[in-house]
Amino acid sequence: MSMETLSASIASGQNLQSILRENRVFSPDAGFAAKAHVQSLEEYRAIYARSIADPEAFWAEAARELDWFQPWSRVLDWKLPEARWFVDGKLNLCHNCVDRHAVGTRSEKTALLWVGEPSDEVRRISYRELHEQVQRAANGLKSLGIRKGDRVAIYMGMTPELAIAVLACARIGAVHSVIFGGFAASAIADRVNDAQCVAILTQDGSWRRGAEIPLKATVDQALAQTPSVKHVVVLRRTGSAIAMQAGRDHWWHELIDSVQPVCAAEPMDSEDPLYILYTSGTTGKPKGLVHTTGGYGVQTYLTTKYIFDLREEDVYWCTADIGWVTGHSYVVYGPLANGATVLMYEGAPNYPDFSRFWKIIEEHKVTVFYTAPTAIRAFMKWGDEHVERNDLSSLRLLGTVGEPINPEAWMWYREKIGGGRCPIVDTWWQTETGGIMVAPMPGAVPTKPGSATLPFFGIEPDVVDRSGNPVPAGSGGLLVIRRPWPSMARTVYGDAERYRKTYWSDVPGCYFTGDGARRDEDGYLWLMGRVDDVINVSGHRLGTMEVESALVAHAKVAEAAVVGRPDALKGQAIVAFVTLETEHSKPESLPALKDELKQWVTQEIGALARPEEIRFADVLPKTRSGKIMRRLLRELATTGSIVGDTTTLEDFSSLAKLREDEES
Ligand code: ATP
Ligand code: MG
Repeated sequence: MSMETLSASIASGQNLQSILRENRVFSPDAGFAAKAHVQSLEEYRAIYARSIADPEAFWAEAARELDWFQPWSRVLDWKLPEARWFVDGKLNLCHNCVDRHAVGTRSEKTALLWVGEPSDEVRRISYRELHEQVQRAANGLKSLGIRKGDRVAIYMGMTPELAIAVLACARIGAVHSVIFGGFAASAIADRVNDAQCVAILTQDGSWRRGAEIPLKATVDQALAQTPSVKHVVVLRRTGSAIAMQAGRDHWWHELIDSVQPVCAAEPMDSEDPLYILYTSGTTGKPKGLVHTTGGYGVQTYLTTKYIFDLREEDVYWCTADIGWVTGHSYVVYGPLANGATVLMYEGAPNYPDFSRFWKIIEEHKVTVFYTAPTAIRAFMKWGDEHVERNDLSSLRLLGTVGEPINPEAWMWYREKIGGGRCPIVDTWWQTETGGIMVAPMPGAVPTKPGSATLPFFGIEPDVVDRSGNPVPAGSGGLLVIRRPWPSMARTVYGDAERYRKTYWSDVPGCYFTGDGARRDEDGYLWLMGRVDDVINVSGHRLGTMEVESALVAHAKVAEAAVVGRPDALKGQAIVAFVTLETEHSKPESLPALKDELKQWVTQEIGALARPEEIRFADVLPKTRSGKIMRRLLRELATTGSIVGDTTTLEDFSSLAKLREDEES
């Protein structure tokens, strides 16, 4: 379903029906709370109330924790859908992430702690060293004629130089457009052409699961269709032979050796664009969101500080690739603005074996770990023995982002990774929101498995019907945000009308997230899945999350995706695609297991949600960022073929496999 038909689907004004009830509650540990930035629910509520009574005062106070070259004259100019935050203020985010730590007491503190994939290669880059390297990279870009406002594509692996490239762009005011290093040439060309990038920063290759991904060769293919690109800068990482075109292609190491190590940070207007980033493509063709400088810097800084409850001695690891918004906000800008030690790992969680992440945590005494539900479900599927081999006692806080987390996966994460002692922050946000919007304050807010809990300070979410009226507690509706926030995307690059129409036209006066949610009697938010994916069974509108969570709670199920298929009797019938735990994938037992699972769902959440059909799959189709693409499964279940946008699909063989299964 596209955004165009979405309006029709919610026009009925009917709310989502919620059928899942999760009653477990975990209060913050007293020892954790005693050292936390926010120490009790009362304290959280008091700060939140103040932040909502006067958001401009709240955000201005937060903004004062950053360095500004020139103060703002007004905190906010708002004329829906156009926001300007910290009007007339001047600052530079590279300066805030690097310089201010490099010259102070943190100068010798490790900023980036990098672990390579092939061996146990480690690089520790202090804030002082980062300062020098970023300035060299910035001067290197300048020496190629790259200037403030130019768009620069970055297509690299997870090397320290990727973070340095991002910061170097920010330093000179070039607008970066990071393209995930797994995308094909056509996806690079689309993004480079959309933004008219003048340069591409890349690598010879990068390591992933023991194999080399040939990044430069892929860029070379894309370059045949990208006339705006004048320069390509290539980091040597794998040492493989690559083609270099004289005049256009430059080695990173030669470029930075030939320049001075000092480059002043460009004073940027608060509303100058910082980057363009394309969404994951879960619901359709990716949108190129534009983020600006001041508000984005303030919200990513403040959310990192409070939600990960950062302490000076933390070793902070967010496993997201910098190619996604999570990597932008919570690998680079947020933690570095806080002066944190950021761990970056180059490769896959299952290389050379399934314990790689846990070995890294043990070896580097990681304290804060932030990952995605899709990864957690994979860890569960691989088996507990891979986790139990390592000492994870350094961990003190866990986080998740990217999809709703099934209560079963949440409990496993808490017990097996967190040893029952670490708070879990389930963080709801989007590429469009730039920073975290809903998440528990870990020392203050009791958590419930599967709930993102309560809003961050200054954020006013609501669950409403199509006219914008709040729905009663306990029933599902549309998740909206009632007022502008600093790190909101300002536009879709080159398409202001698409921005207005997609986000600011469905629900009067509100930002519409595209997600369905329910608010419980304690005010906690439970994300129910995409509104596009809602299934209408006999007039009952069900979100995907609850049925999937019921399936995942079955001991034999590792992962599940449910979609609706037209049904003459019920309107829609539920088709469930299910991936089994490894030891249960034996073919003989499958027909009986289908009945068992249908029965299980009936018993867990009711006959209404009973799947009409269960289909087993080795893998589900996912975006490159790891999210299940239900729209493809829906097409497959409905028409038997797929014509929708698959440019962000991770593994084409997953679809081929599903089609084969259908034919057999
Ligand atoms: P596209 O917009 O192209 O369809 P996408 O929505 O997957 O792609 P992102 O911006 O990466 O792109 O993802 C944001 C979405 O991810 C949210 O709208 C929500 O559906 C989901 N999401 C993120 N975090 C959470 C969370 N903690 N709980 C539930 N859902 C989440
Ligand atoms: Mg989206």
